[in-house]
Amino acid sequence: MTNFLYKNDLPKEIDLGEEIAIDTETMGLNLHRDKLCLIQFSSGDGNAHLVQIEKNFNKSPNICDILRNKSKLKIFHYARFDIAVLQKKFNILTEPIYCTKIASKLVRTFTDRHGLKNLLSDLLSIDISKSQQSSDWGANELSKEQLNYAATDVLYLHKLKNELDKILHRENRYYLAEKCFEFTPYRAMLDINGWENDDI
Ligand code: MN
Repeated sequence: MTNFLYKNDLPKEIDLGEEIAIDTETMGLNLHRDKLCLIQFSSGDGNAHLVQIEKNFNKSPNICDILRNKSKLKIFHYARFDIAVLQKKFNILTEPIYCTKIASKLVRTFTDRHGLKNLLSDLLSIDISKSQQSSDWGANELSKEQLNYAATDVLYLHKLKNELDKILHRENRYYLAEKCFEFTPYRAMLDINGWENDDI
């Protein structure tokens, strides 16, 4: 398992396959105030590709190609936030997507614990630390702890999707999940355009 670190874009030659796990780290949770600092990618092979985005930089052609490519499924945990952040930064609506948080809410109706840490623990018996979650992602030099934390947010999303898909099929909720995933990019678009507090 290796973490690769880049500045401002993925290398052109990199091929992350047809299903790509993505996460973002920002200066905070306010879409209008807090800048995007890091975007993490994984093809599900155990490696993470981390891209540090410099302030005011918004041209990342290789990242944008992935986000807008309709034949590549982008897997997120809580896609609504990441899609909004990415749209604000690159002016691209990310589609198609899969969200492990939505899938969990649709099938794990016996609990209200749908955080990534909970899902990894319950479905994959993987224990991750969230201690770096609220650290300074705007630092020029990210610490080893920050990079490892950022990587764990994408490394297991493929496996998580596999487990959640099994339960979605078992409970006959796969169709409902698909429809939610289709709507999620537009939910994110509503968030950045002033309807963030409305259940539209
Ligand atoms: Mn994260």
